[in-house]
Amino acid sequence: MASASGSPVRVRFCPSPTGNPHVGLVRTALFNWAFAKHHQGSGAQFVFRIEDTDAARDSEESYAQLLDSMRWLGFDWDEGPEVGGPHAPYRQSQRMDIYEDVAGKLLDAGHAYRCYCSQEELDSRREAARAAGKPSGYDGHCRALTDAQVEEYRAQGREPIVRFRMPDEPITFTDLVRGEITYLPENVPDYGIVRANGAPLYTLVNPVDDALMEITHVLRGEDLLSSTPRQIALYKALTELGVAKETPVFGHLPYVMGEGNKKLSKRDPQASLNLYRERGFLPEGLLNYLSLLGWSLSADRDVFTIEEMVAAFDVADVQPNPARFDLKKCEAINADHIRMLDVKDFTERCRPWLQAPAAPWTPEAFDEAKWQAIAPHAQTRLKVLSEITDNVDFLFLPEPVFDEASWSKAMKEGSDALLRTAREKLDTADWTSAESLKEAVLAAGEAHGLKLGKAQAPVRVAVTGRTVGLPLFESLEVLGKETTLSRIDAALARLAA
Ligand code: GLU
Ligand code: ZN
Repeated sequence: MASASGSPVRVRFCPSPTGNPHVGLVRTALFNWAFAKHHQGSGAQFVFRIEDTDAARDSEESYAQLLDSMRWLGFDWDEGPEVGGPHAPYRQSQRMDIYEDVAGKLLDAGHAYRCYCSQEELDSRREAARAAGKPSGYDGHCRALTDAQVEEYRAQGREPIVRFRMPDEPITFTDLVRGEITYLPENVPDYGIVRANGAPLYTLVNPVDDALMEITHVLRGEDLLSSTPRQIALYKALTELGVAKETPVFGHLPYVMGEGNKKLSKRDPQASLNLYRERGFLPEGLLNYLSLLGWSLSADRDVFTIEEMVAAFDVADVQPNPARFDLKKCEAINADHIRMLDVKDFTERCRPWLQAPAAPWTPEAFDEAKWQAIAPHAQTRLKVLSEITDNVDFLFLPEPVFDEASWSKAMKEGSDALLRTAREKLDTADWTSAESLKEAVLAAGEAHGLKLGKAQAPVRVAVTGRTVGLPLFESLEVLGKETTLSRIDAALARLAA
């Protein structure tokens, strides 16, 4: 795949460093990255750029987080921060002289003009237009000021902004996701590109950099669709001025909806990437799920690897209708990816949750051999890695953490008799075989007229503190005979008390 002029694909991901990265942003990064990877054979490239021209909202901390998130997700970039490239620098805050230069060229060529209107004047004319049922955008008041008018405004001490002059004709483009879209001139008025204090706006810097960095495809969220006709008009002017080589093609990715069918917002806690990292989502699982927000591999397969996604990905297959973020499904897909890990890899990835501050046991209490032995049984049961702590705490804490609801659910009349029999049978069982431990509890149950399920519940709660958890007999085997029997004794004492 190549661009309109035949040059290799160049896509970009260009977030602003404000706050925590959110899942919508990650989806945008993913689709751009996957598109570049898909076309890598023909020289496609992925550019990472930081749009930090808003000093009031951007922060260095958020910049560092963006880079850390990109690396955690596994997105490598061909050009950008820390990597460099022929269009460096890749932080807009370091490119201010470029924007000033381009704004000057646009003014000189008449593609832009200085607008002296005050906010009050703009507001009152907008009100009047609205009342008359006319389009209420900027009315072109300063498009053709005479020298005398300019002089008068200057004498009044007014500081002008710079406005881009939109053409008086419709703008039509073919969106890669949405097909042909036309904007009428009355709906796309002349717009500001430089503030009165000289600071360039997103409306200027974003397309200028896309032009200079020779971006061929702009894939971004639907919220930016209304800026596209403006950018296309600006591109035309930039091409005329020799700043741009060609106009990129655009593809607008569907909205992501959250709870209650409201748009998932940046500020929504459910949207924060950090939350998913802290809960122990795998990047593989999260990316698999996020790819389904607007795209699919096939009608009958929701779980796939990133390599499979890259091989199949095409923006043309992205659906325009809003996608719903479904946390349950996201977790289920993550669980599948946890199961898909090599068991050694799984044991390593759980490490952060097996030590302080996540884990409640002391570092000395952690037992590597026990962990290695239990890990395969845990791997098939986790939705997210953070669940590992509660699942294995019975192995590393001196005593089980009794969940009172579990205790009263499992400990019925006769549970003490059952526990005593189970203890006897376990005492003579073969502790190198989970099967033998199961036979022991089965036999104890039979002696009291209980099926295995009913018989094992008090044993499980006595030993692990909970009614649910990892497979019981494997757990007992790993925990060992001595600890298991002394916990049953302790439970009997607790029942007697
Ligand atoms: N910095 C812009 C944003 O984060 C980029 C928009 C775009 O992709 O064009 O919204
Ligand atoms: Zn004006």
